[in-house]
Amino acid sequence: MTAFQTFILNQNLKLKGSVYMSNETKPDFVKMEHEVLDFWEEHQCFEKLREKNRANQRFRFLDGPITANNPMGIHHAWGRSIKDTVLRYKAMNGYSCHYRNGFDTQGLWVEVEVEKELGFRDKKDIEAYGMEKFTRKCVDRIKHYSGVITAQSKRLGQWMDWGNSYFTHTDENISAIWHFLKICHENGWIVKSHRPMPWCPRCGTSLSEHEMSGSHKDVTHTAVFAIAPVRNADFDILVWTTTPWTLSSNVALAVNPELDYALVRCAGFKRPLVMAKAAIKHAEGEKQVLRLLKGNELVGLEYETFFPELPVQSGLRHTVIPWDDVDANEGCGVVHIAPGCGAEDYELGKSFSLEEICPIDESGAFLDEYGFLSGLPAAQAAPIVFDNLQKQGKLYKTHEYTHSYPVCWRCKTEVLFRLVREWYIKTANIRPKLIRAAGTVKWEPAFIGKRMTDWLQNMGDWNISRKRFYGLPLPFYPCENCGKLTVIGS
Ligand SMILES: [Zn+2]
Ligand SMILES: [Zn+2]
Repeated sequence: MTAFQTFILNQNLKLKGSVYMSNETKPDFVKMEHEVLDFWEEHQCFEKLREKNRANQRFRFLDGPITANNPMGIHHAWGRSIKDTVLRYKAMNGYSCHYRNGFDTQGLWVEVEVEKELGFRDKKDIEAYGMEKFTRKCVDRIKHYSGVITAQSKRLGQWMDWGNSYFTHTDENISAIWHFLKICHENGWIVKSHRPMPWCPRCGTSLSEHEMSGSHKDVTHTAVFAIAPVRNADFDILVWTTTPWTLSSNVALAVNPELDYALVRCAGFKRPLVMAKAAIKHAEGEKQVLRLLKGNELVGLEYETFFPELPVQSGLRHTVIPWDDVDANEGCGVVHIAPGCGAEDYELGKSFSLEEICPIDESGAFLDEYGFLSGLPAAQAAPIVFDNLQKQGKLYKTHEYTHSYPVCWRCKTEVLFRLVREWYIKTANIRPKLIRAAGTVKWEPAFIGKRMTDWLQNMGDWNISRKRFYGLPLPFYPCENCGKLTVIGS
């Protein structure tokens, strides 16, 4: 029996002046709950309690807004019962409590549900349907479900100022956040930056670090061993990747300078291939090791990229760079680098000033400068990539490869990486203030305070923008000529 049920039961015992349990083998909890709710209603118990405590010392409990996107789940009921118990305890001790409920009525969750309702597949369907109509549908949905949740919460016995809930999509809330953003801007904390973000091509939005945790599943992809011809040398380099679509955006190859490599003559290939010594097992058929070498012998070599004919690749110089993280546990000890397609590649690319080319648009389809791939969804590109490699004599072999791969937590679509320009709140300057403030809080239990401090110490810049339709509008107006940012706020 939960604390809440016990509470209701005790109320009943008092009300009836009799002992329910001893007379009836099966107490009818539902009936009892209704009797208690009716009693509270009839005698205006909540209003009387607030009136009685009105002038007393204040106790402020700030409830985070519940997403008004679906009926309340049992986990919400659980949390709400605990919160209600705390407020009741404080009120019984004479405190004047704050009883304002809130509804989170914006964001992707709402959009995704409305999209499902309308049978939409992606963002383009929303654009075709019309932004205004779509927004109205979103508002209809949150109005409906905030009503449902209110009724459920009352039924649960939660005491709140139900006629006075706040909604995040209202002007009241939006202007308060605009005020906050304006102050952030005055302090120089608002920045726009280019980052590789995990991207859901169906939802058409980036996914935060937080959203990515735990959203992996085992997926089988066709991986490829591809050949990169080395210029001014008599051998080629063997490269392995599990994401063939990213070969389009290759700008470098990385080797580990300390690792052992081998020059191997392979049956059916004119020029010998370089691969990690530990990867010789991947070479098919008849093979002959010509000589061994260290990775540092390869650093600086220039090679022809996989698809040199793509307009986006023209004029780029492709070289082999050193990277200590390269190993030969999987693949062949040579990593193809595409800074526009992955977070690690992006970081490495920055330290070598590599070109950042991002091949896909918001729906995960190749952009115009990608020649034979243009318009094709990245997720369907593999066979066409293999075919083109084959024609150029750059395909060594393909094989099925099962690995743990990130998927969108909302729609389960496989996640891609995209370079995205988004707005951030820089945390470097705010961090010490937040840590100081957290230090003044009495945390219960104490280890939660430690967890909070750890989180603050490790948090990156805060991504506040999403390329979506139904959310808080950002009041940011960069000048098209000089880039100067104006932030409107009250
Ligand atoms: Zn998605
Ligand atoms: Zn200007």
